[in-house]
Amino acid sequence: MRYDLADMTSPEAAEAVARSRTAVLPIGSIEQHGPHLPNGTDTFAAELVAREVADWLDAVYVPFGPYGVTPIHAGHPGTVTLRRETFEALLTDICTELVGMGVETFVLVNWHEGNIASMNAVATDLQDRYDATFVAAQACYVAQRVYRDQGGELTHGGGIETLAMLAHDPALVKADRAGEATRPLGAEEMDAMRRSSEVYGFITDVSELADDGWYGNPAWATQERAESFASVVADGVIELLGTVMTARDIRRRQREGQDR
Ligand SMILES: [Zn+2]
Repeated sequence: MRYDLADMTSPEAAEAVARSRTAVLPIGSIEQHGPHLPNGTDTFAAELVAREVADWLDAVYVPFGPYGVTPIHAGHPGTVTLRRETFEALLTDICTELVGMGVETFVLVNWHEGNIASMNAVATDLQDRYDATFVAAQACYVAQRVYRDQGGELTHGGGIETLAMLAHDPALVKADRAGEATRPLGAEEMDAMRRSSEVYGFITDVSELADDGWYGNPAWATQERAESFASVVADGVIELLGTVMTARDIRRRQREGQDR
């Protein structure tokens, strides 16, 4: 059974929230992805994974809207970026409404790294303000991990993103326009630089990474592999989600024990 807030009637929504108390939101971006992938790649990928996660948790799936914070692609045709304030206001408003509806746990399933700082800021603010728990899932990084052994790489417009779009709608993948795999000198190092969690730098325009705005090996993605994309990545998310919730539980029980 799928509990999509937009599809349900009002009484159905009330029932679904009362039962699960959990909302799953997909968060992505509309931005250029080279000549071969749709501008909505990140949003479609987030939605695929979020739906699976919501189903697995029996939670309410809450559409967020397709846009994200992506100044790095601004000015490249097909890109529409939100300002950080707009994104944060939108996420705050949606989650606040859901808290009012009775949601206690939020799982934010994101596929766009430009959203991360804003997501984290809103999640910590709202968790501080309300009796609600937020968990962030960076589905693109989970995908990078689960496909690494099979040679899958998370690059902008590369193998893993092409795989996600084959899973979403193969008609939107113009593989023949991608040409050969591209790997501009230094691109991998630049990606590693900005994605480190220790010492890292920034990229403010995608052309710093690759002249034509994307790189990687779209040919790695096959339709056969795409069949299980959503469930494989969602499994990776759910496994770690369990670890996060268990950690919180252990600590909560310990504190409750101390209070007695
Ligand atoms: Zn992308």
